[in-house]
Amino acid sequence: MTTGVTVNALADGGLERREHALLPPRPGGALLAVERANICGSDVHVWRGGHPTLHDCVLGHEFVGRIVRTDGSPMVDARGEPLSEGDRLVCTYFRVCGSCAMCALGRTHLCERAYDSWGHSSLRRPHFRGAFASHYQLHPEQIRVKVPAGMPSELAALANCAVAQGLAVVDAIRPDLVDGPCLVIGAGALGLATVAGGSAVAAWDVYDRVPSRRRIAERFPNARSLGEVSSAGTLGGVYDVVVVAAGSPESFVTALEQVRPGGQIVMMGIINTRPTDTVSFIPGVLTRKGVTVTSVIRYQQRHLIAAVDLLSGPTPLREIPLADYALDDIDDALAAAERHESGRVSLVPDLDRGGL
Ligand SMILES: [Zn+2]
Ligand SMILES: [Zn+2]
Repeated sequence: MTTGVTVNALADGGLERREHALLPPRPGGALLAVERANICGSDVHVWRGGHPTLHDCVLGHEFVGRIVRTDGSPMVDARGEPLSEGDRLVCTYFRVCGSCAMCALGRTHLCERAYDSWGHSSLRRPHFRGAFASHYQLHPEQIRVKVPAGMPSELAALANCAVAQGLAVVDAIRPDLVDGPCLVIGAGALGLATVAGGSAVAAWDVYDRVPSRRRIAERFPNARSLGEVSSAGTLGGVYDVVVVAAGSPESFVTALEQVRPGGQIVMMGIINTRPTDTVSFIPGVLTRKGVTVTSVIRYQQRHLIAAVDLLSGPTPLREIPLADYALDDIDDALAAAERHESGRVSLVPDLDRGGL
């Protein structure tokens, strides 16, 4: 096979299918065949034109791929395990250059070149920089972890970004508060991954207004789902930790009300920075309640390794239902993801063809 297919999201909300040559990978990189790519909430957001700069790009960043070509030199994953053609892997959607000021400080999740290979148009070489495609060009600076033999791609695809990101949230919870009670706002894969990776003895309440999402949360043994939260007053609140895993700016106001004095808000789901993404709250409440606000953006290598390990065991994350669509049906798939009909909507490039 010498060519592959990408699906490009355009500024007007249109999707354009393009065919491109499969170029040899750069040294330290690899050409992957996409086995399964999930649709993350941020993909839907960009598709809807909500991103200020992305107007022609190949979306898709939560996926599992199989190596079909390397540069011929030895290649290892983040654990140091050798990788070769035929192996499956998951990788960060961002790069870690290892040499910028942030990487030098060990804050690799804030690498200054994190997005240098992300959100590109397929017209730009090497064409395959998003996972809503038949193939993907892995950059040498993307952290990769080999998928254990026998792990279904349905599970592996959740490792990046949902599960690794959820584990980064768990990591950010103050040690004195880890056993809760905790409230997670948003029962999407990110919120559920936080519950799955968090303290087993903590009481986890998961708040989401979408009934189908609450039904998934109810399958988690340590979680209780809520369709609404009771008013806590200006300076009240009962939760030691409130995790904002939803994307609406109003979620922060809810978190500020629900967290108890001395507690912690962990910000993760709200990522939009448009002038309209504002919300009204009383800053003095933050001061008077003595609340810690911690923001989590991207994650570190250990979180991706831990995500694969978590998914290898008997985790409730296996309960997240997936809906499979062929790459040709991406319009329907994105619409289904927007309607929150399933836990995760997946694009499977070879669904109709029985193998690439
Ligand atoms: Zn994502
Ligand atoms: Zn860096």
